[in-house]
Amino acid sequence: MNAHGHSEHGLPAGRNGDDPVIAVVGAGPAGLRAVETLAAAGLRPVLIDEAARPGGQIYRQPPPGAERPAEALYGLEAPKARVLHALVPALGESIDYRPETLVWNIGGDRLDLKTARGFETLDFDRLVLATGAMDRVLPFPGWTLPGVFTLGAAQIALKAQGAAIGRRVALVGAGPLLPLVVHQYLKAGATVVAALDVTPFGAKVAALPGLMNEPATLAKGLWYTARNALAGRRIVSGVRAIRVEGEGRVTSLVWQDAKGREHRVACDAVGASFGLRSECQLADLAGVKLRFEPTTRQWIPERDQSGRTSRPDVYVAGDGAGIGGADAAELQGERAALALLQDLGRPVDAARVARLDARLARQARFRAALERAYPFPAHLLAAVSDDEIVCRCEGVTVGLLRSTATGRDAHEMNRLKALSRIGMGRCQGRVCGQAAAELLAAARGAEVATVGRLRGNPPVKPIPIREAIR
Ligand SMILES: Cc1cc2nc3c(=O)[nH]c(=O)nc-3n(C[C@H](O)[C@H](O)[C@H](O)COP(=O)(O)OP(=O)(O)OC[C@H]3O[C@@H](n4cnc5c(N)ncnc54)[C@H](O)[C@@H]3O)c2cc1C
Repeated sequence: MNAHGHSEHGLPAGRNGDDPVIAVVGAGPAGLRAVETLAAAGLRPVLIDEAARPGGQIYRQPPPGAERPAEALYGLEAPKARVLHALVPALGESIDYRPETLVWNIGGDRLDLKTARGFETLDFDRLVLATGAMDRVLPFPGWTLPGVFTLGAAQIALKAQGAAIGRRVALVGAGPLLPLVVHQYLKAGATVVAALDVTPFGAKVAALPGLMNEPATLAKGLWYTARNALAGRRIVSGVRAIRVEGEGRVTSLVWQDAKGREHRVACDAVGASFGLRSECQLADLAGVKLRFEPTTRQWIPERDQSGRTSRPDVYVAGDGAGIGGADAAELQGERAALALLQDLGRPVDAARVARLDARLARQARFRAALERAYPFPAHLLAAVSDDEIVCRCEGVTVGLLRSTATGRDAHEMNRLKALSRIGMGRCQGRVCGQAAAELLAAARGAEVATVGRLRGNPPVKPIPIREAIR
């Protein structure tokens, strides 16, 4: 066995030679709970993550040497962060942990990996995908100006580098990340000049009964909102027509309030995103069936309650299987691992499964209410002008997309891609795909579910070209 815990022929070392190779992609709450459960059953899963340290998005750790107290980084979530961060060291040799390893492709039952040492492959018998989510990006005037970040990126700067995105920061969003990032920026001593929610206040009131399914989580959200207001940064709801202004970089943000009055504030950075979207390109490449989810208006892996997919050896868990939040991700990771064990014919405690299923059902009701509280802000796209860029990798404008949709009869996303180059660049449509589908549907007067989605293509994230053309 070599220093990385691999056998001579490059296969991961199991506890005994007959054990199946189980790969878990993602060391966030979902993946961590999955490997913990698998290791407790005597298996030795391979845990792969492109990040240098475990934790995923919510419990992202700063680089070694730049550590700060958990309370400063994770606030109310500090106890959970501590527990999850301690898991990998505690599991030690009972898992094969591979940090700084990107899974850039899946072919059959083989993962293509890019590691710090170069390129490798890993053959698996079973695969758990716990790949999380990224910000949902929608174009608005000025969104490509230097100084505009996503809310997630604004938060990563704070967690990983201990830095704010600017000196006078405006934050805009449509989802629970907005009050959280506002709170984190204020707590870090940053100047937040505006906090704007593009969804209506009434939607939140209407969603309250459903949000009561998880009273502790609801209380946390209300606490952040109250703390923000006390610190002088009340979140303004029902905002429309946002526009970033500046020559070469951000100098101000302009918006209309719910009554149609225009406001302008000077700022040097804007954090803006509109909910989350599941990272499910790997599931797509693995041949897992995807389905359209109407509440979040995105394509997600088809799965049952346990995380089983249409492909019997592939399981999904966490935000990559549909946006559910960090607590649901932990439960789903454990649940998928139990399903996997059951499918291998290993004994599984039925009472534990029933408890998990009941908690997951409550989480699902809470999440459905949360999506109703922050409905998709279609009004932003309806107002976006033809000269705005939608695909920044390929420089495709909204106008080109709209004229291709109607003038060249591009009725679905992959035809639109072939004719306009949308989604053909470095991000492979991860950033622009959802906005493009909405714009295409609107241009053709169709339901967004009917225009399909950009098919997943390797590499799922940029890698050196020599490997891609091998
Ligand atoms: C930027 C951002 C910030 C967020 N901040 C918060 C927050 O503060 N509070 C909150 O409640 N929720 C937050 N969320 C939502 C949050 O991501 C989750 O609810 C929670 O982290 C989901 O856990 P997970 O295990 O499903 O995924 P994640 O925690 O996202 O973990 C997924 C892991 O998979 C890895 N991965 C993905 N693709 C690959 C690949 N191809 N190869 C190798 N590794 C891969 C990633 O590096 C990541 O570590 C945030 C989301 C985003 C996108």
